[in-house]
Amino acid sequence: MSPPSTPEKLPTANLFDEIIIVTVGKELKPFKTFSLHKGVVSYYSGYFQAALKENTFQEGQSKRIELPDEEVETFEHFVGWLYTRVLPGNSDDYTAEYNGLIKLWILGDKRQIPLLMNVTIDAMRDVLVKRWILPRMSLGLIWENTAPGAQLRRFWIHLMAQVGLRSSLKDEHKEFWVKDALWDVFRASYEMWRNGRATTLNKDAIAKLDLCEYHCHEDGLKCEKVA
Ligand SMILES: [Zn+2]
Repeated sequence: MSPPSTPEKLPTANLFDEIIIVTVGKELKPFKTFSLHKGVVSYYSGYFQAALKENTFQEGQSKRIELPDEEVETFEHFVGWLYTRVLPGNSDDYTAEYNGLIKLWILGDKRQIPLLMNVTIDAMRDVLVKRWILPRMSLGLIWENTAPGAQLRRFWIHLMAQVGLRSSLKDEHKEFWVKDALWDVFRASYEMWRNGRATTLNKDAIAKLDLCEYHCHEDGLKCEKVA
């Protein structure tokens, strides 16, 4: 069964039968051990589903997974979401707020958790509408951890090409514009201008934007349109 990509389905009680141990981070670095329900984590994540398949573990041994390259804080946010479907709360600092969500999207991409990727895309739009500022200091984080064509990149390329936020183009913000991001946004803007589709999206338009094209779904599936 593939992990869910839309919020309708919930895990059932029999997913809470067995506990696994997940160790995150490296020794001497922030390092933490989590006890999680095998059924729940496998329900949401294709990675865990495959890694926890019965035949890869010795009989009677407790199931342990080591994730030395994951960040403890991001994994804590993931675990919080896993059991509550609530994403990390507001932060005073817009970059911290964006980065928290971006890191969860990257974790979702790496560990095949489509629903987490999709809800973080929606949450980033909400941060943009609420704060009305682009994640200019997060561009390096996005472009270094995603492949060309990744939904997270496409989402920000399209928004940056269409959101009228000239404050991000001030000279003092030049250093934050990662070269590859700048190139992608330039190309998207140019194509829109060339095809006569150049527009400026205001807050209202962004709040109503259908984000499904930036989601990760099984073939043929789409989010239900909210009227
Ligand atoms: Zn969708």
